[in-house]
Amino acid sequence: MKVKIYRGTKEIGGTCVELTADNGKILWIDIGSPLDNKNPNVDYVKNKVDAVLISHPHMDHFGLVEHLVSEVPVYIGELGLDLINATKIFTTGELLKGNFKTFKPWKKFTIAKTFGITPFLTDHSTPEAFAFLIEADGKSVFYSGDFRATGRKEDVFHRLIKTPPKHIDLLLMEGTMVERTNHLYQSEQSVEDAMDKIFREQKNVSFVISSAQNLDRFISVFKACRKNKKTLVIDVYTAWILDEVRKKSKSTPGIEWKEIKVYEHRGQLNKIKAPQFDDFKIRVKTQSIGNDVFGKRMDYVYFVRCPNEALMNKLRGKEKINVIYSQWEGYLRKAHANYCTDNINALKEAKDISFQSIHTSGHATVPDLKKFAKALKAKMIVPIHISFPVKFKEELEKEGMKNVCLWEDGIEYKL
Ligand SMILES: [Zn+2]
Ligand SMILES: [Zn+2]
Repeated sequence: MKVKIYRGTKEIGGTCVELTADNGKILWIDIGSPLDNKNPNVDYVKNKVDAVLISHPHMDHFGLVEHLVSEVPVYIGELGLDLINATKIFTTGELLKGNFKTFKPWKKFTIAKTFGITPFLTDHSTPEAFAFLIEADGKSVFYSGDFRATGRKEDVFHRLIKTPPKHIDLLLMEGTMVERTNHLYQSEQSVEDAMDKIFREQKNVSFVISSAQNLDRFISVFKACRKNKKTLVIDVYTAWILDEVRKKSKSTPGIEWKEIKVYEHRGQLNKIKAPQFDDFKIRVKTQSIGNDVFGKRMDYVYFVRCPNEALMNKLRGKEKINVIYSQWEGYLRKAHANYCTDNINALKEAKDISFQSIHTSGHATVPDLKKFAKALKAKMIVPIHISFPVKFKEELEKEGMKNVCLWEDGIEYKL
């Protein structure tokens, strides 16, 4: 088997790995969009490929999938595909284009009669993310995907390092955090605790700015609300995401739960005019917060991606509004700014707003990366999804692991 990393040996984002079996069959793992403009060249997406395997529904892992020739089979988790389609429905109104074949966690399957794939669920900032064991030609490659050990699925991390697959020839593992640290909040639980404290003392509403697809974070906010008997107000898009997740996990909070109300965001409702959304819209209407939105303000917490300026202005008053920024702070900087960065940065300056950042990363800390690398006992480790590979190598060498190899993008290596 031959292995090539198209992107990712010195970059977080744009991940794409190519495996070529001895019979000539070619499999790509992930086909992500780059997260910055430093190297916009993605011509490799037109290269010959027999199948693509997607680890999880984050843009830096699937973002270029629609650039593929349409008949190439794309293997993806069921929930992962539903979550990408949720975003598509509420932005373009269309579903993701491609020849998709879905798989289930832990169930081994074969691609192109050549590659044996075992998908391992990982703990990450999306409800369904996978690592893969890929076996072909008597060799085995373990692809870690994005993972951490500090979220609500930390058990899967501990189980994997306790009983890892054996005889791994190559471990391709992420190293996002080698130069980033989780300063204040080490885990999802510490995020929940910090929010609990703020909600307990709020005298006006709180807005939590985060992504609905970061389910762990949503659960942290939900639990902190429940402890303080606050009503959690979500938008129509978040309501849809919860429905999708609940198809797989009934313990996930749903819009009918008494602690949740829905804010009927006009723009979002306009995206779901087709008849297949009628039942969902009736349920949203039933759970709508309506005019209670201006009720006893201290009883409400709003979970939003982009704060609705008009609504927030109406809620401003004598008592300060809390704005809790609960995602990667990099999105507030110019280089990574997204569509509502300017609004959010403006809130930081407002005198009648108490602005706080409460977040923990979706990626493994350096001690957890070391535990992972040690446990998997691979013959060779190659870091990927990383900005500082040399630092990664040094950190693992400190632990006696001398098998880290630093590869170059676009170069093929033989296993
Ligand atoms: Zn990710
Ligand atoms: Zn990623």
